[in-house]
Amino acid sequence: MRIILIEDEKRLAHIIKKGLEEAGYSVDVSHDGEEGLYMAENFPADAIILDIMLPEMDGLSILGNIRKKGIKTPVILLTAKDTIADKIKGLDAGADDYLTKPFEFGELLARIRSLLRRKTDVKEAVIRVADMEIDTASHEVKRGGKFIPISAKEYAVLEYLAYNKNTVITRTDLTEHIYDESFDTQSNVVDVYINFLRNKIDRGFKKKLIHTVRGSGYILKDKEEQRHDFRQDIQDKTG
Ligand code: CA
Repeated sequence: MRIILIEDEKRLAHIIKKGLEEAGYSVDVSHDGEEGLYMAENFPADAIILDIMLPEMDGLSILGNIRKKGIKTPVILLTAKDTIADKIKGLDAGADDYLTKPFEFGELLARIRSLLRRKTDVKEAVIRVADMEIDTASHEVKRGGKFIPISAKEYAVLEYLAYNKNTVITRTDLTEHIYDESFDTQSNVVDVYINFLRNKIDRGFKKKLIHTVRGSGYILKDKEEQRHDFRQDIQDKTG
């Protein structure tokens, strides 16, 4: 998953970016409001962490601008202000959540996970796909109760597919949501990770979970499609 961080205190921004990357997120950082607004409007992010007091343009104005444009990316406001009036103003301007500085990093991570789940069918930290379990807090993956060791990037690919399970995800979607802006999106690296994941997750299991959708992308699937029985139709019509 990919996060935009708009925070002008460089040291704090650096610590948050580093922590988020260690937690497996890709992070694009801006230290001023105007550039932050540009990123929020143009980068395909899964969440935005937004400071309120910023040079060039403040966080609430950024928020107002992106919501006016119909951009629904979840936003967590970060601020030193903790009066009730400011919280109300922020939430009414279209923020999804609010964190007052100083905060515990673990709380920020939990709030991000909670926001990422909101736009999906997933309601808790563990995502289940058939007999596979993906723990989005600890990044542990199990299939059939057995722990499967996977790398950070493999995890990022798998997690994105899992949040969107039973939905076809294009290569472009995957690349955009697991890498930050510095990555060359022409690369076929997603296919490479999918192959690694297949070897680890599906090999030796009768039920395959990762499927290629020709010409489109990939799907992590635990539902069988409803197959229409055309033979039955013909029998019905011809008696
Ligand atoms: Ca600030």
